[in-house]
Amino acid sequence: MDTTPSIAKLAIDGGEKAVKTNFPWPIYDEQDVQAVADIVRSGQWGNPDCAGAVAEFEQQFATYCGSKYAISCVNGSVSLRLALIACGVRPGDEVIVPPYTFIATASVVLEVNCVPVFVDIDPNTYNLDPKALEAAITERTKVIIPVHFAGLPCDMDAILDIASRYKLRVLEDAAHAHGAEYKGKKLGSIGDAGSFSFQSSKNLTSGEGGMVITNDDALYETMNSLRNVGRLPSGQWYDHFNPGCNYRITQLQAVLLSEQLKRLDEQTHIRNENGIYLDNLLADIEGIAPLSREPVDIRHSYHLYIFRYNKAKFNQMPKQAFVAMLAAEGLPCSSGYPHPLYKQPVFQQKNWMCYAIPDSVDYSQVYCPVAEHACADEAIWIFQQAMLGTRSDMDSFAEAIRKVQHAINQ
Ligand SMILES: *Cc1c(COP(=O)(O)O)cnc(C)c1O
Repeated sequence: MDTTPSIAKLAIDGGEKAVKTNFPWPIYDEQDVQAVADIVRSGQWGNPDCAGAVAEFEQQFATYCGSKYAISCVNGSVSLRLALIACGVRPGDEVIVPPYTFIATASVVLEVNCVPVFVDIDPNTYNLDPKALEAAITERTKVIIPVHFAGLPCDMDAILDIASRYKLRVLEDAAHAHGAEYKGKKLGSIGDAGSFSFQSSKNLTSGEGGMVITNDDALYETMNSLRNVGRLPSGQWYDHFNPGCNYRITQLQAVLLSEQLKRLDEQTHIRNENGIYLDNLLADIEGIAPLSREPVDIRHSYHLYIFRYNKAKFNQMPKQAFVAMLAAEGLPCSSGYPHPLYKQPVFQQKNWMCYAIPDSVDYSQVYCPVAEHACADEAIWIFQQAMLGTRSDMDSFAEAIRKVQHAINQ
């Protein structure tokens, strides 16, 4: 019997955890509390004119992103939808999306009666693969939605080049990418419009909320009207010019976001530095491969730190079982999406609400091998709050992986 004392008892079996730090999220202090309390006491909770604290936060966010306009709204799904409508999509138009993303990226396409076309991701970045993207363009394609997945910038030069050759609009889904940069530009500010979420898990949050940024005057005017029941700045209160809705945020959210925004740049810096450091540590572990930071000048916001798992080096342990062991070690992690988006019932079943999707579009025939492999076997996510830790926390993450590997290979 092997009783090698060097094998540490796994936390899942009652042993000591390899990661001892807790990583709280959201992060706030008395100034955040005071800002919200001031609004409560003012009695001005809403913002019927999108003025006051809401307009101030929009201005701050636009300035931070280096974009001309920022339009807040209730969440990061509606912000995508506002931008899609403003791009002029018509029922039956095709919109290219990746299959490895949150449902909203593709479900908003259905909501505007357009057809999501799934294009596979690059195995080294998990972002839209520009080569596959070009091959998927048809006469009906109108918009590309690149998702800066996990906060890693897409290959925007290649995507913008394709978009300009085929006269397509580019709507960046930057829900993971607040403060991230591609060649010195903030993500979200590079395409025709960029969409952000302030939902509670996101790197900038007020519990719920969304924002879309743009430099385009016409897109701005349309989106600004649509989120405010079709009103126009030049019109009267009861004049409604566009088929919009009330998608406004409250002043309570706006002041909280203004306070949170003060922390964003420093937090993004810490996550980015920790990511580079962790890349080096994990690259030394057999069977673990960090995603590649593309060979351009980027700043990664690490909404997720993703690494690829190869079970051949872990005694054929399935990914989900490995992740359960890692989580027990105290690492805030997940095996991520179980399936690519096109496997969701909403696409497979195409019920009566999906009437705009032609019969010729059959999602049961869609197969994106890279996304399939990422979901089933490969992708492991570490959550963003853990990336705010110290260098020695990063050391402990690598240590947790080595400890589990050592135990299961024994
Ligand atoms: C969170 C998220 C959204 C939608 O944001 P909500 O604010 O939850 O509506 C859109 N796209 C991606 C990639 C997301 O992760």
